[in-house]
Amino acid sequence: MGIVSINPATGEEIKVYNELSLDDSFQKLALVNQSWKAWRNSRADERGSLLRNMAAVLRKRKKELAVLMANEMGKPVTQGEAEIEKCAVCCEYYAEYGAQHRADRLVTTEASKSYVSFQPIGMILAVMPWNFPFWQVFRFLAPALSAGNYGVLKHASNVPGCALAIEEIVNQAGFPKNIFSTLLIGAEHVAKIIQHPLVKAVTLTGSTNAGIRVATTAASVLKKTVLELGGSDAYVILVDADLELAAESCVESRLINSGQSCIAGKRFIVEKSIVEEFTALFRKKMQAKRMGDPLDANTDVGPQARADLRDELHSQVLHSIEKGAKCILGGKVPAGDNAFYPPTILTSVTPGMPAYDDELFGPVASIITAEDEQDAIRIANDTVFGLGSAVFTKDIAKGERIAATKLQAGSSYVNHRVLSDPRLPFGGIKTSGYGRELGDFGMHEFMNIKTIYIR
Ligand code: NDP
Repeated sequence: MGIVSINPATGEEIKVYNELSLDDSFQKLALVNQSWKAWRNSRADERGSLLRNMAAVLRKRKKELAVLMANEMGKPVTQGEAEIEKCAVCCEYYAEYGAQHRADRLVTTEASKSYVSFQPIGMILAVMPWNFPFWQVFRFLAPALSAGNYGVLKHASNVPGCALAIEEIVNQAGFPKNIFSTLLIGAEHVAKIIQHPLVKAVTLTGSTNAGIRVATTAASVLKKTVLELGGSDAYVILVDADLELAAESCVESRLINSGQSCIAGKRFIVEKSIVEEFTALFRKKMQAKRMGDPLDANTDVGPQARADLRDELHSQVLHSIEKGAKCILGGKVPAGDNAFYPPTILTSVTPGMPAYDDELFGPVASIITAEDEQDAIRIANDTVFGLGSAVFTKDIAKGERIAATKLQAGSSYVNHRVLSDPRLPFGGIKTSGYGRELGDFGMHEFMNIKTIYIR
């Protein structure tokens, strides 16, 4: 069986890759394991300099990797280059701060000395999605290598070229051979990899369904998981918001990666008295975005990553319209053998519609009208998801109070779209998952936080 890479802008097959058998995968795990003994005892300066090398390799290959992403999953090249730069910055962040994050922490007790030490736990399996084929992997990989761990990657089946490129980049940076390896396998083999004794923990970014499957298997063999799943981020626009800034941020957030981001703003909850003005501004800015060839530097919105995902998105739009939503922009599947879907706006969105209840993983914005501030917060929290959230208001103290104490999410931003940043922890609550990536919290997820007590 092969893993097939298809260009979503044209529908053409790019390449068929050989799938690894389970036996071959187990052999790879054993090879990876041989490198670990030396790596877990490596010096801080060695880890730092290899991470810096990796940043340099990424920057050197930026243009080529952006084209690879454009071809395999349709990301516009300018966004692809920005993604590679972000991966490089992440490597540099852990090169600079990794040693500090894993330094012993003295704690005063009755002991003559007691402290917490952070120790690597070994091989981590990363099950990763296609939407940010490099960033999703590097935000796991940079802290994992800095921690002294090592890893194997099961990447999404539509980005095998990206998966192999990441293995190559680690080797080009000069890390010990086999410290990180890509397994080209289908989802059906993941359970057996999780159960393998050499695998100590699993991190997954993807759908709630895949997260549940992976977590269930991992729980059956008592292995830790970190899950970063979907989201339906609410952006609350209050009556005193700077509407120009709010509309600009909301469009930027909704259309990032052609709408396929877990932390894209998806539900825009607007106070009644400004909903008309906001919607007009928002529509104008959405309409101005150019959909087209992902290889063209002027393209804002590329195709969706796969035709089946585009079809599912369109069916969510149609179901919402059937239930009373109004489509004021887009909403039509372009002709041709491709996976394009245009920037789309649904208004009059209410409970019971996919646009209200579910995650819309594409360039479709749901505008929901709220009676007042309290109602807007209620609607923002009226979801099974809890990844990111944002509030727009000129009253900064009020914005901070709402962000810090009212919005139920892993992160809340005031007057800014939600971002992931190597310096800040990232993750969700509710069905958006658990555990954190990035910052020191992300690094500690896969470390033995060990207590040392000397009488
Ligand atoms: P999936 O969650 O199915 O895929 C993500 C990763 O999980 C892939 O590597 C996939 O492998 C793997 N996987 C899938 N099912 C299992 C399983 N049962 N056991 C182990 N591994 C599994 O995402 P899809 O590509 O199907 O996208 C569907 C939806 O998921 C999107 O519409 C979106 O809502 C959400 N999603 C969320 C993302 C996020 O950033 N949080 C990213 C991508 C998707 P394989 O590709 O071989 O199936």
